[in-house]
Amino acid sequence: MKLAIPEIDLDKCTGCGDCVELCPLDVVALTNNEVTIVKPEGCSYCTDCEAFCPSGAIKCPFEIVLAKTEIT
Ligand code: SF4
Ligand code: SF4
Repeated sequence: MKLAIPEIDLDKCTGCGDCVELCPLDVVALTNNEVTIVKPEGCSYCTDCEAFCPSGAIKCPFEIVLAKTEIT
């Protein structure tokens, strides 16, 4: 199964560090003013970072899979 991790747009990221402060699982870190995912396996995909990023630089997209059902 593919690991779900947030996507970061470094062109939009200002390096404010808000996501680093609020992530409850220390998944993101700031290095040289650039945010990176340092613990992808620890991400619970709570989407808090997406909700609170002031620049809209983090997205937590969801993939919708449509199941085929058979009508009998
Ligand atoms: S909260 Fe947004 S702008 Fe701030 S460091 Fe994180 S990704 Fe970058
Ligand atoms: S989705 Fe939640 S756990 Fe994952 S990096 Fe963002 S705040 Fe942290």
